[in-house]
Amino acid sequence: MNNADLIQRDLAAIWHPCSQMKDHEWLPMTPIKRGEGVWLEDFDGNRYIDAISSWWVNIFGHANPRINAALREQMESLEHVILSGFTHQAAIELAERLIKLTPAGLNRCFYSDNGSSAVEVALKMSFHYWHNSGQHKKQRFINLSNSYHGETLGALAMGDVALYKETYGALLLEPITVPSPDSFYRDAGESEEAYSRRMFVYMEQTLEQHADQVCAVIVEPLIQCAGNMRMYHPVYLELLREACDRHNVHLIADEVAVGFGRSGTLFACEQANITPDFMCLSKGLTGGYLPLSVTMTTDNIYEAFYDDYDTLKAFLHSHSYTGNALACRAALATLDIFEQDNVIENNRALASYMKQATAHFTDHPHVAEVRQTGMVLAIEMVEDKVTRKPYPWQERRGLTVYRHALKHQVLLRPLGNVTYFMPPYVINTDEIDLITEVAWQGIQLACE
Ligand SMILES: *Cc1c(COP(=O)(O)O)cnc(C)c1O
Repeated sequence: MNNADLIQRDLAAIWHPCSQMKDHEWLPMTPIKRGEGVWLEDFDGNRYIDAISSWWVNIFGHANPRINAALREQMESLEHVILSGFTHQAAIELAERLIKLTPAGLNRCFYSDNGSSAVEVALKMSFHYWHNSGQHKKQRFINLSNSYHGETLGALAMGDVALYKETYGALLLEPITVPSPDSFYRDAGESEEAYSRRMFVYMEQTLEQHADQVCAVIVEPLIQCAGNMRMYHPVYLELLREACDRHNVHLIADEVAVGFGRSGTLFACEQANITPDFMCLSKGLTGGYLPLSVTMTTDNIYEAFYDDYDTLKAFLHSHSYTGNALACRAALATLDIFEQDNVIENNRALASYMKQATAHFTDHPHVAEVRQTGMVLAIEMVEDKVTRKPYPWQERRGLTVYRHALKHQVLLRPLGNVTYFMPPYVINTDEIDLITEVAWQGIQLACE
């Protein structure tokens, strides 16, 4: 078996995610045979560093021996069981440990199997909470511009990335969209904190005006990942928590991408010292092994649903694979690694190495900004460095970076004009040097 055979069979049978399939007339598909640590290997023997953690999910490398061992053991006893009326050890232990690890007050875990579903659950629970509490006017949500919360219709509606959303407008709920505190747009000389404070005025005004119709504000804490890795200061979350309380509106923290150490702390909300009313977790939860997500919430929310059956207050939502035992076991093995390996501290050293390694990118005539939050580092290319005028999207310059990187042992998958490093935490400094060098060359080529 080689790459060519598999590509041919693939293109005859598979419809790939987030892809214009016609691109594959000239853009080669890469069939992967095996993975080990940060490395992927294709069927022709080429190797690639997975610098984007296979779409942000992998945190401790491919074929991680410890996660593998845990899964083998789980597989021998129980692969899956219905989670209504039944339960199992892995689901219980995982919920207990997540409750201990997440911000104080998140005492309930509702499982599902992907990030979008975790967001849908939070939206439905928030709405239903107000319904159960007799507040029937609360039917809307507030989101931030440039946000992303997934692809199912409810989650898609809460996002604000036109590329994914615009076509489906007629099908979607209409949130009230508040301008994002995205630091990219701060004035020259203005601190990120000052900018976040300044931008919060729009949120405050919106809450003042609409709180009686609003169930919740939904945000991606600190990094708008799909929105080109734009970042903002934690003070915004602090102000938002206080304002949501004051206006009697829930706060949904979508930590699907930033949870499990990505932001530099185990959860991004820690940096603002807040507890949201709902926290959505998925991507890193199983170390990138199996689909699993969880919507965590407070006793207060849980209790609004807890009543006699005929009051019809129950949350009658389920997915076939809710609380899958293999996925829960992979998550437990992932948490073990966090516990045993001093991960957050080691990541601090890796993050600071990435920062130094890419310091010279700021001098590039077509790089507007190099920004970083924890284990996410993003390099934004622009046509004009002074005005920050972006390259037109039709030119697809990021694709030049992608193709160059693939030829030189690195999987980078820019978002538009933004090249980013979001590697598994087991990357070493030599590998960071390699992805940095390849990204530099790729950006040079892309800006020609
Ligand atoms: C990826 C992502 C989602 C959606 O998760 P899926 O598992 O892809 O459905 C939701 N929110 C954020 C912030 C994400 O990055």
